[in-house]
Amino acid sequence: MDSRFIRSTPFLRCNGKSESDERNKGDEEERIISKHSFLVSPLCMSGGDGEYSYSTNSLLQRRVLSKAKPVLVRNTKEVIINLNFPRYIKVADLGCSSGQNTFLAMSEIINTINVLCQHMNQTPPEIDCCLNDLPNNDFNTTFKFIQFFNEKNAMSKESYFVSGVPGSFYSRLFPRRSLHFVHSSYGLHWLSKVPEGLENNKMSVYIQNSSPLSTYKAYLNQFERDFTTFLKLRSEEMVSNGRMVLTFIGRRTIDNPLHRDCCHFWTLLSKSLRDLVVEGLVSASKVDSFYIPFYDPNEREVTEMVQKEGSFEINDLETHGYDLGHCNQDETKRSKSGQSEANYIRAVSEPLLVAHFGAAIINILFDKFAHHVSQHASCRNKTTVSIVVSLSRKKTFLMS
Ligand code: SAH
Repeated sequence: MDSRFIRSTPFLRCNGKSESDERNKGDEEERIISKHSFLVSPLCMSGGDGEYSYSTNSLLQRRVLSKAKPVLVRNTKEVIINLNFPRYIKVADLGCSSGQNTFLAMSEIINTINVLCQHMNQTPPEIDCCLNDLPNNDFNTTFKFIQFFNEKNAMSKESYFVSGVPGSFYSRLFPRRSLHFVHSSYGLHWLSKVPEGLENNKMSVYIQNSSPLSTYKAYLNQFERDFTTFLKLRSEEMVSNGRMVLTFIGRRTIDNPLHRDCCHFWTLLSKSLRDLVVEGLVSASKVDSFYIPFYDPNEREVTEMVQKEGSFEINDLETHGYDLGHCNQDETKRSKSGQSEANYIRAVSEPLLVAHFGAAIINILFDKFAHHVSQHASCRNKTTVSIVVSLSRKKTFLMS
């Protein structure tokens, strides 16, 4: 039997330990392993279109997409002009998830190209639309929304072709120099794995004010490794002058790398888990060994990493406020929005939580979470932001 079918290399475990020692053999080998193995990861958004699914609870991400729209439109136009109105372009949405959001960015790109070509009296290109996510993603639900996408683009003069690309964006996904435009929204704050060395970060699923500095360093190092790998791989896959528009969760703070506001969603999740420990529903050691594979960089960290990797030029770098909309509301509205934030965080973390704690605690955990959100309704000075960065692939001077 082909070894690909019997070997599985889990690339993420909730206790931060790598399951095999393969990792120690170096980055190159790690990349080859992940490329040729079926990745088994509990990281994925909740599938389907039920009450707690990502598809039903992704309004926040929809707002984020609309705030990033001007950058997306500008870069789409510029790539088409810089490539001199090509006959064919390949566009990828990385971390597309499941549901309608998946197609929003693609529709915007197609529409922008259509309008631009009409305006400039040019023949529109054929567009290859590649939707990528981890193999566990619910692609079935995504593809069910294709009919809305087709209706929305019914007037489009270009031909476009939609396909799914299952795999990690921390591995090679496309042939060399085949991609013209890459979009990714709210995928890159997810790490390829939980960092090593978080043992001293007690009873907390992520960095919080009381965490040791070593916790920040461990998360930062993992993010740098992952983000640098992402840039390097995309630089291999993209044509010169190709563009990327990347949006992810970041933080405003520069001085204290441990500072997260008291109503940060992972801080509230830690609090909710501690409630369950007090009630005897979960053991303290179980909470101690669970960490979220997530990092929220600030602008400076992102800029330095892009410059250090060296394949891309930064065109735009914007930060937008991250607002779940529950501030300063009256009590009934507060508890309702506490519930909707709970559903939103549940949709993005339930598979990870279930893999570690089992399904039985989930309802009660998110009841606690909703309560904590409503207690923080008047919090201001939030540190969480969305970072939107657009990048150009620098020219390569290869002979072929
Ligand atoms: N872009 C969508 C979905 C955001 S949710 C939107 O804006 O609504 C983030 C998505 O990124 C999830 O579906 C998750 O499975 C995916 N993701 C996280 N890490 C990934 C990786 N390494 N490779 C591919 N997709 C990944």
